Amino acid sequence: MKVYVDKTKCTGCAHCSDVCPVAVYQMKEIAEDPDGSKGVINSDATPPEQQWKGKNDPNVYAKWNNDVQKCHDHFKKKSVAVNGEACILCQACLIECEGECITIIDDQGTEYHSIYK
Ligand code: SF4
Ligand code: SF4
Repeated sequence: MKVYVDKTKCTGCAHCSDVCPVAVYQMKEIAEDPDGSKGVINSDATPPEQQWKGKNDPNVYAKWNNDVQKCHDHFKKKSVAVNGEACILCQACLIECEGECITIIDDQGTEYHSIYK
């Protein structure tokens, strides 16, 4: 199983790491790697066009940064799929992902994308 996060859309909500039963995700501080050049945030299988380069997707940022229920950590962290091989495709993360930015590809090549419910 291959798992990756579109870092430009990840809000840092940590729902994925909270619900994943097999610890696929780790939250990383943007402050550790502000422009992605240190390889801290882009250390998973995220393709180049979705990697963190210091800029959030403006639409996702506008939607969630104005959410009155946002937690204070929003947009201060990014989720990194450090252990994608362990994924059991329970799909819990896919329905909890605010940024709709998770992709999972199974061994047959079928892609699954997060849709926030
Ligand atoms: S689908 Fe995979 S990555 Fe997502 S919560 Fe379940 S085991 Fe974790
Ligand atoms: S649930 Fe989605 S938006 Fe929230 S931290 Fe995980 S990948 Fe990012």
